[in-house]
Amino acid sequence: MAEKPDVRFTQLFIDNQWQDSASGKTFPTFNPATGEQIARIAEGDKADVDAAVNAATKAFSLNSPWRKMDASERGRLLNKLADLIERDREYLTRLEVLDSGKIYREASEDLTDTISCYQYYAGFADKLHGKTIPVDGDYFTYTRHEPVGIVGQIIAWNYPLAIQSVKLAPALCCGNCVILKPAEQTPLTALYVASLIAEAGFPPGVVSVIPGYGPTAGAAISEHMEIDKVAFTGSTEVGKLIQQAAGRSNLKNVSLELGGKSPNIVFSDVNLDYAVGVCVDAVFVNQGQCCSAGSRTYVQDTIYDDFVRKSVQLALRRKLGNPMSPDTDQGPQIDREQFDKILGLIESGKDEGASLECGGKRFGETGFFIEPTVFSQVKDHMRIAREEIFGPVMQIIKFHDVQEVIDRANDTTYGLAAGVLTNDIGTALTVANSFRAGSVWVNCYNAGGSSAPFGGYKMSGIGREYGEDGLRQYYEVKTVTIKVDEKNS
Ligand code: NAP
Ligand code: MG
Repeated sequence: MAEKPDVRFTQLFIDNQWQDSASGKTFPTFNPATGEQIARIAEGDKADVDAAVNAATKAFSLNSPWRKMDASERGRLLNKLADLIERDREYLTRLEVLDSGKIYREASEDLTDTISCYQYYAGFADKLHGKTIPVDGDYFTYTRHEPVGIVGQIIAWNYPLAIQSVKLAPALCCGNCVILKPAEQTPLTALYVASLIAEAGFPPGVVSVIPGYGPTAGAAISEHMEIDKVAFTGSTEVGKLIQQAAGRSNLKNVSLELGGKSPNIVFSDVNLDYAVGVCVDAVFVNQGQCCSAGSRTYVQDTIYDDFVRKSVQLALRRKLGNPMSPDTDQGPQIDREQFDKILGLIESGKDEGASLECGGKRFGETGFFIEPTVFSQVKDHMRIAREEIFGPVMQIIKFHDVQEVIDRANDTTYGLAAGVLTNDIGTALTVANSFRAGSVWVNCYNAGGSSAPFGGYKMSGIGREYGEDGLRQYYEVKTVTIKVDEKNS
């Protein structure tokens, strides 16, 4: 079993220096597998955000090393950072498991994704082309892609390193300065990556990492008059607050990666064992704490009973326990609040008449473990079919035909992801084209990588991350028009 890592950084990272918060306050971070405190972390607030903005303003001033740096050199720094994360990947994997309760195997996959994200955007740094544009008249018009400026980034706890990478990598690729607030539950790996940012050679002030709470440090970022953009990953509820704060302050540019309640539709012509495996993984990955979780499993009526029986078999086979152990399939939920919320939604499912096929209770006596839970006979109006549960709870819903299931699948305020499993290409394409969702998977789920754009329709968000589209959040387009006139030359 992997050893417990020591914690090396607990202060704020501003101007490439470690420092206590201005208030001197600290807050605890816990191990969700045991409930024990791991360390106390400097608690950032408005004064610390102001200090980071001052450092970023200097770093972003004209003629600063960062502004004058060749684009290819920004790419080299990002590649250097990827190499340093690779060097320390075993340590970072264990630190992520300790702080977030993720299982070791999945944390290791997150490290692979994190490294690949930095490498992907490293390659783009010197390929951010503008255009030359044939406007009417004697003019030469071209566009430049320029950094937005100082970017605030506020992130969630469910994929701490991976979300940090898809925030930092495109922002730095385009030449911005960043002030990042990790989630209060998972500050440790964000701080360790900050130490690698300094080691890689990014100039002071280009990246600051300020752990702290949302309503204080987070709000100070989203309300700041000198922050040009805020990028957020988290709940739809807080996403609305971020957008309101931007509107109340300086109309900063806002991008949001929010929640979902994604449908995953299984037609009767599939290989049943394969489809059950895909759908069970789509729900239970990362303890169900996945924004794109395929949490409404629609199954065609003729295979419904067999599908439920096999899903229960697979759910019961999942091994719960110490997340550091390599054979564990499911770890604890992140904290008491999420744990209570999930158990409350399970109760609502029972009260509203869904059939509890397995699970439904706490597992063990320490930590925030919940048994893998499967509900059948779920109806579209039930809370478990409408609200994001963010836990290991599968809803299996019956349908009869294509048009009916498309309408029911789209009847949600969310639009992050969707899946369809069928061997009929016509059905697959009809359904894939009809979903109002940012990502659609056919005969697979959660597949993709750094090069594939990801983001939400409707209340699942604004903008895209990953891929070339993910860069669009982080540059302004400047149009330069020059009169072509030989008399003036
Ligand atoms: P959350 O409560 O919205 O928190 C996300 C971040 O926002 C945290 O850093 C939080 O600080 C901060 N925050 C809270 N209140 C704030 C405020 N008033 N102003 C500024 N910042 C504030 O979300 P969560 O419950 O931690 O995360 C789960 C949610 O994230 C789910 O809904 C999930 O679907 C979504 N998610 C979406 C994606 C995606 O890519 N679409 C990816 C992962 C997760 P604290 O540290 O104090 O909480
Ligand atoms: Mg923790």
